[in-house]
Amino acid sequence: MIELRQAQEIVLSNISSLPVKMAPLADCDGLVTVTEIYSDESIPPFDNTAVDGFALNFNAVQSGTREFEILGTIAAGDVGDIPITASSAVRIMTGAPLPPGADCVLMVEDSSVSERNGKSYLAFRKALSRYENVRESGSDIKKGQLLFAPNTELSPGHLGVLASLGIHEVSIFPRARVGVLSTGSELTNEAGPLLPGQIRDSNRPTLASLVREMGAVPIDMGTIPDDPKKLREAFLDASSRCDVILSSGGVSVGDFDYTKQILDELSDGTMSWMQIAIKPAKPFAFGLIGSTPVFGLPGNPVSSAVSFELLARPAIRKMMGHLKLFRTPVRAISEADLRRRPDEKIHFMRVTAKLESDGRVHIEPKSEQSSHLLYSMANSNALAIVPDGPGYKSGDEVETLVLREL
Ligand code: AMP
Ligand code: MG
Repeated sequence: MIELRQAQEIVLSNISSLPVKMAPLADCDGLVTVTEIYSDESIPPFDNTAVDGFALNFNAVQSGTREFEILGTIAAGDVGDIPITASSAVRIMTGAPLPPGADCVLMVEDSSVSERNGKSYLAFRKALSRYENVRESGSDIKKGQLLFAPNTELSPGHLGVLASLGIHEVSIFPRARVGVLSTGSELTNEAGPLLPGQIRDSNRPTLASLVREMGAVPIDMGTIPDDPKKLREAFLDASSRCDVILSSGGVSVGDFDYTKQILDELSDGTMSWMQIAIKPAKPFAFGLIGSTPVFGLPGNPVSSAVSFELLARPAIRKMMGHLKLFRTPVRAISEADLRRRPDEKIHFMRVTAKLESDGRVHIEPKSEQSSHLLYSMANSNALAIVPDGPGYKSGDEVETLVLREL
C-alpha cells in the first residue's frame, strides 16, 4: 500500500494546465484567469449622486445662503449640463451626474420646496459637508489599477466588476472536458426490470454530476462491458475527445478485469496500479493515453466518489488553473463515536455536517460505512478523516472535508 499523499503526487506530477483561451464573460463563472487584469476606466466614471435630492455648491451653502432657485432636474442617464451658481440648485436623482458647480447633495427628505412667480425655490436647515452624498469618480476603481492577479477564480462579484469596466472577454483556463465511462458486464441502463445478475450503472451519473459541480464538463462515454475490443474502442474514443478520462470499475484484481490489460496496452505502460492506504477507495489506477490522463476509479459506488474527491478533483482543478487544489478540512465536533479498527489506512467516513448554534460544525456519522452502500452518499455531505487507530469518541474534534453546503 502507498500513502494517499504519494498517490496524489504521482497524479499531480503528470497533470498540466489546459491551453488557455479567450472566453466571453457569460461563460466565465468559476473559471480561473491567466493574466493580470487592469482597469482602463474609473468606476464610477463620473461624480454622481448617491441619493435623490438637490445638487448644491458647498461654498454657497457654507456662506449662509438658505434659499436656492431650482433650475431643473437631472435624472440618471442625463448628461446633467445645468450649471449651478451660488444661488441655485438642481433637482437630481440617484446615479445622475453632478452638474457643473455642484459638490454636495441635499437629501430630498431634508428639503422643502416653495413656488413663487412661476419659479421653484429650495429651503433647508440641515448642515451639509463638501461631497456629502456624492460618489466621486474613481472612488470604487481607479483607471490603471491592478484589479485581479493571475489565477483568480472568477466569482459573480468578479464578473460584475469586469462587466462594469466593459471587459467582455477574459483570458481563462477552460473547463476541462471530462470523459466519464463505466466498465462492467453486469451494468445496464435499460428501463424495465433487471435481468438476473444485472445492476444499473450508478457511477456514471454520479461522477458526471461531480464533474459538473466543480465547473468542468462531463462527456458521457457510456457503459462498456468487460470486453477487450469494446474497452479499447471506448478508451481510444475518449482519449481523442476529452481532456481527461474517468473510468470506474475493473481496477482491482478480478478475473474479467480486462480494463487493466487494455489500459496497460493503450497507455504504453504508463499506468500505475496502486493500492492506497485509505478506506474506501483502496484500488486506484492512473496513467496517460497519449497525453490524456486516465483515472481508473474503483467500481464500488462510494469508492468511486471518494476516489474522485481525493485524486481526480484536485487534478482537474490543476488543469483548470486553480492554485488551491485540495479542500481545507474543517475541525468538526463528532456527535457520536467514530469507531474503527487499526488497519494502516486513513478512513474517510460519510457524515452529515451541520453548522450548529454554537458556531461550530458538528458531524453525525452514518451507521454503515461499507463502500457498496449507495444510499448513504445521498444523505451525507462530508467525509470525516479518521486516521489509523481506534477512531474517535463522541465530542472529539475531527478533521472533516465538507463537500457540500452545510
Ligand atoms: P469492480 O471494481 O469492477 O470489481 O466493481 C466493484 C463493485 O462495484 C462490483 O460490485 C460492481 O458490480 C460494482 N460496480 C462497478 N461499476 C459500477 C457502476 N458503474 N455502477 C454501480 N455499481 C458498479
Ligand atoms: Mg467490474
